[in-house]
Amino acid sequence: MLDVAALGEILIDFTPAGRSAAGQRLLEENPGGAPANVLAALAKLGKRTAFLGMAGRDQFGTYLREVLRRQGIDVTGFKLTGAAHTTLAFVHLNESGDRQFSFYRDPGADLMFSEGDIEYDLIRAADVFHFGSISMTGEPARGATLAAVKFAKAQGKLISYDPNYRPLLWPDPAQAQATMRLGLEYADLVKVSESELELLTGTADLELGSAALMEYGVRLAFVTLGPQGCFYRAPFGTGRLPTYAVPVVDTTGAGDAFLGAILYHLSGRNAADLEQLDRGELERMIDFANAAGALTTTQKGAIPALPGLEQVQRCLAQLSKLPAG
Ligand code: ATP
Repeated sequence: MLDVAALGEILIDFTPAGRSAAGQRLLEENPGGAPANVLAALAKLGKRTAFLGMAGRDQFGTYLREVLRRQGIDVTGFKLTGAAHTTLAFVHLNESGDRQFSFYRDPGADLMFSEGDIEYDLIRAADVFHFGSISMTGEPARGATLAAVKFAKAQGKLISYDPNYRPLLWPDPAQAQATMRLGLEYADLVKVSESELELLTGTADLELGSAALMEYGVRLAFVTLGPQGCFYRAPFGTGRLPTYAVPVVDTTGAGDAFLGAILYHLSGRNAADLEQLDRGELERMIDFANAAGALTTTQKGAIPALPGLEQVQRCLAQLSKLPAG
């Protein structure tokens, strides 16, 4: 049995790492890809997970598979192809510290994952199926993602969706919007940023935008707000929770840690169970997820920074909260 199976992109993020003695910019090789980060967050908390996706049969792909294996993630659904190189992303930090990306993905191996590559037994064995939108930016991965999510839905799995928006990976915003909305039709729960909420619903207003998400059949919507915590909408209504005050080093992966921590609490339940959640129970989960997200910002990189259960519990017991936005 598995708790969560996830399908999606996997790549290498090259992130700035200072300068050499000669003054040249240094880059650090980091595993990247939101669905795999969500699984790593769950594995760190003790859950059984499996990844479905593709990298190149090159040193990067072999490295990525080894990283996931070391996290305890089942990699039998992680394929390596000789037909394309592992996708690479170079992360640039602008003067205000915001991340900008350039992608080497033309095509990238992650997009070559096709319907025939899906290990359906892994989806069948899991309580939750999780996917994102980066694997829907092109074929054959888009068809594979939709085939997998339809299969998971037909099997009665809880469906979790993280519609990430990276403008450079789409031909134009209209196609991004249409395809990212398609994912909403299958999702029981979604996690978005404010800008993704606006792209998906046409409004950045948290109340109106989250209500629009529910019209697709979504039962739980989380809008993560960085240091301002999280806004949520559930069948019983909406709410907002502050997050924890931590010394922030690098926010990469905070959203994935947040979502992994939510799924930590929801695996073992089905879509109908989400209708029964009460405010107290949901807010305890979100508090836990805010702590996991906050802790992930205290170290460089995504996977190395993900907290274990004891670390989250210590944070809940000891750290003070930031003012809610
Ligand atoms: P990413 O896509 O980079 O993984 P995201 O935009 O999906 O991130 P964020 O809103 O940045 O997600 O972060 C998720 C959660 O992590 C927040 O809801 C919050 O609880 C915590 N968090 C993020 N940034 C900070 C911060 N600067 N200080 C404290 N907590 C933070």
